Amino acid sequence: MINWKNQIDGNIAALLRRAADCQIELGTRELVFNKENVARKKSELATRWLTLKRNRKEKDEGPEISKYKSLSAHYKAICECQKCSLGATRTKFVYGTGNSKAEVMFIGEAPGRDEDLKGEPFVGRAGQLLDKILAAIQFSRDKQVYIANILKCRPPNNRDPQPDEMKTCMPYLLEQIRLIKPKIICALGRISAQALLDTSTPLGKLRGKWHQFEGVPFIVTYHPAALLRFQSYKKDCWEDIKMLKARYDILIQE
Ligand code: URA
Repeated sequence: MINWKNQIDGNIAALLRRAADCQIELGTRELVFNKENVARKKSELATRWLTLKRNRKEKDEGPEISKYKSLSAHYKAICECQKCSLGATRTKFVYGTGNSKAEVMFIGEAPGRDEDLKGEPFVGRAGQLLDKILAAIQFSRDKQVYIANILKCRPPNNRDPQPDEMKTCMPYLLEQIRLIKPKIICALGRISAQALLDTSTPLGKLRGKWHQFEGVPFIVTYHPAALLRFQSYKKDCWEDIKMLKARYDILIQE
């Protein structure tokens, strides 16, 4: 049995040793360590170990099977969630929408004001643009796609989701993916892409190519809200969406 905590601390120790060796080699008289850097590295390593652990478990035991019979059973089990502070401030729990057997899953970051009021993802201005993007490739919300977010509750004033909120909510999304079994996943925006790929690589470098998420082809594109603010991103987004559609067309013929 691997002790993950010891592994993390071992890595931190190695990191500090390497930093000390470099400082000594540079002739310092006093060793200096940045506490925030060490804390950040520790949290990065913790996330990486969790991913490794999940991948290893999947390799040994095969893909995880959902313990729920359906999306609605899963929804019923979690819709009163109060695991993080967002539970207290939400109006509605925003689970997801679309075809429960969709081939393509789109994943955004978190509900905004309109979504919080309606209890459905992507219903505001960004959502209307997403509908147009889907229509451009002859997709509709209730047929080829399922739409969900990393967070199920709105962060106050639409602030960015916090790492601990995403960590707490991620198992819900993983369960949705297990139940829907999409053939393609598309992350909308940096926050969703980085959280799912467990990376800090900028969105510009993640988009435009295929990745894998737990064995599922995974593509990244700009968040529709970013397209509303920066028209110039639309061209690249369209390239990503065309890549997605081309792969979809091949997959559904198989
Ligand atoms: N932005 C998101 O990421 N998700 C939504 O549901 C709405 C806006």
